[in-house]
Formats: sequence, structure tokens, C-alpha cells
Amino acid sequence: QSFEQFGLSTTIVDALHNLHFTKPTNVQQKVIPHLLRGEDLVVQSKTGSGKTAAYGIPLCEKIDWNENKPQAVILTPTRELAAQVQQDVEHIGRYKRVKAITLIGKQSFEKQKLALKQKNHLVVGAPGRVLDHLEKGTLSLEAINYLIIDEADEMLNMGFIDQVQAIIEKFPKNRVTALFSATISSELEELCHKYMKQPLTIKV
Ligand code: AMP
Repeated sequence: QSFEQFGLSTTIVDALHNLHFTKPTNVQQKVIPHLLRGEDLVVQSKTGSGKTAAYGIPLCEKIDWNENKPQAVILTPTRELAAQVQQDVEHIGRYKRVKAITLIGKQSFEKQKLALKQKNHLVVGAPGRVLDHLEKGTLSLEAINYLIIDEADEMLNMGFIDQVQAIIEKFPKNRVTALFSATISSELEELCHKYMKQPLTIKV
């Protein structure tokens, strides 16, 4: 099993080799083909399984470099995870010059607003600040193809459910949605049922 089997561009495969990712992890093996095809997913997997690259690789592959507006939003429960995810996706998209911006609280809203006027292929953010930008019209969803909800159980534990729902409601309907979580509670199942298109459940 190799990354070449997914039919990825050489820019992406080269970056993976550079990161010493020699073969896909279990979660990557299962998730990458579906996200490349644009299918909704519910993925039960833990941190350390390689889940970030499981969505990072297809997102980077699918990015149209010439499109300046964000093409995917990745929601994370914490600032630390947002920073880590931004770094990871920029490493995967290094030779494609993929640009990712983080939108988290405690950083200047005005600075983020200015940065959002530049080229950004991917947005990685915490629900509160992402919603803030959506409500103020400073984050465009015009070119969005993907919404990734990472560590969804943590998001719920931290009381972000209403914000996450409000964000989803603002997204274009013809998007792909993937949710990653260590555990899938009935509350999460309900959320997926409500907002996803016949999602496939993957357990790792
Ligand atoms: P994550 O579960 O996304 O937090 O990833 C856990 C760690 O595994 C990170 O340090 C990644 O850089 C690393 N990793 C992800 N995918 C692979 C792979 N295919 N081969 C080797 N290491 C990987």
C-alpha cells in the first residue's frame, strides 16, 4: 500500500515522501478515496492515527491554486489544534504552495480580516471566531467545497454545539462534510443525520 495508489499529484506525493510518510495509516487508507470522490463521512478515530493527513491530503489534492477564496474550512475545538492542523496541511501542500489561515480567538479580528483579503485556500479555526467572521461577512464561503469538523466530541464537551450548528447552516448545500471524533455519541449522530448526505461511517 502506497500513497501513489490514490492517484495523487506528484506535488503531493513528493511532499509526503519529504515528511517521511512512506505508507498510508489505517485511517488514511480508508478515508482518502472517499474524500477525493466527495462523499460525506463520519470517522471514529483517535489522535495519533494520522487523521489530520487523512483529510489534509485530499483537501490539498483538490485545491485549485488559482482560486483565492477559501475552498475548505476545518473546525477544531482548540487554538493549539488549529495551529497544528495549519502547519500539517501546509506541509502536505508545500510543493503546491497551499495557503492556510487560522482563525482563533485572542488574535486581532482586524488582522484576520486583512489576512482574509489575501489568497487563502484553507481556513482552520475555532467555532467562535469562525462564526464571528461569517456574521460580519469577512469570511467568504463562495468557493467552499469541504467542511471538516475535527475532534467533534471535544467540540461538544466544550459547549460549542450551537456555534457549530450555526456555522453549518451558513454553508452552501453542495459541500462535502466530514466529521472526525474519538467517540460518536447519540448527539453527534443526530448532528450528522441532520446535516450530512447519507454519510458513510468509518471506524478505525
Ligand atoms: P494525527 O493523528 O493527525 O495527530 O497524526 C499523528 C502523527 O502521525 C503526526 O505526527 C503525523 O505527522 C504522523 N503521520 C501521519 N500520517 C503518517 C504516515 N502516513 N506515516 C508516518 N507518519 C504519519
